[in-house]
Amino acid sequence: MNYDFLSFYTIFIFGLIIGSFLNVVIFRLPNNMNIDSNNSESKTNVDSDFVGTIWWGRSKCPHCKAVISIKHNIPILSYIFLKGKCSDCQNEISIQYLIVELLTAICFCFLLYISTNVTQLAFIAIFSAFLISLTMIDINKMILPDQLTLTLLWIGLLANTDGLFIDLEHAVMGAVLGYCILWSVFWLFKLLTGKNGMGYGDFKLLAALGAWLGWQSIPSILLVASIMGITYGIFMKVKTSLIKNEFAFGPFLAIAGWVTMITKINDTFYFPHLSLIF
Ligand SMILES: [Zn+2]
Repeated sequence: MNYDFLSFYTIFIFGLIIGSFLNVVIFRLPNNMNIDSNNSESKTNVDSDFVGTIWWGRSKCPHCKAVISIKHNIPILSYIFLKGKCSDCQNEISIQYLIVELLTAICFCFLLYISTNVTQLAFIAIFSAFLISLTMIDINKMILPDQLTLTLLWIGLLANTDGLFIDLEHAVMGAVLGYCILWSVFWLFKLLTGKNGMGYGDFKLLAALGAWLGWQSIPSILLVASIMGITYGIFMKVKTSLIKNEFAFGPFLAIAGWVTMITKINDTFYFPHLSLIF
């Protein structure tokens, strides 16, 4: 795609603003989820001071609940200016805010570089933004909210009505296979060990990835995510004396899905070993 320094600069700033919004979603969405006793996702720790709406209301400091002023709410600059501390209570502001803003901005610039047209760019930017939010929420709270996974699935099908990434037929099959495959693994594991190996959110996330990338991508996404997950699990067990029983699988699915998308739209980043396996 045609790009110049100005468009890179513009999209970087745009990425920072979107990243700032994603921080709001990451922080507020888990506190606004319906607590349904039948829902496996209901184990979230809800902070009652922050229950409200996602879309309006000013951001508050998680420690002293002071409303954050507009001049202290500018992406990156405010964090640096405040030296990572709340202007009221001097408690530390999580570095996660800065990471999400920078990650989104850098990711958007990279997408501008690799995408071939504006429609494709818009859709993969949305795809990436959803995956960043889901990854951070899963790391923080061990949940993947339906509001994000299911919406991501519908947008994937919408993008593929015109075959933007894959034929619609393959996209629908991808969504079905993605859900069913992890659902089967979940029940097999539960029958054998009596434990919950993963959450329903993971099925929905893989279904969403299938809707974007087609059923053909499901095996490689699952393989790459599992290898990363197992490696991480072993690493955590060796490193920490405390044996951590569970960790979020969503981030590994998200990373594997994102890499698959990048390889799909850009031959330069094609990983041949995946096609050799499948
Ligand atoms: Zn504060």
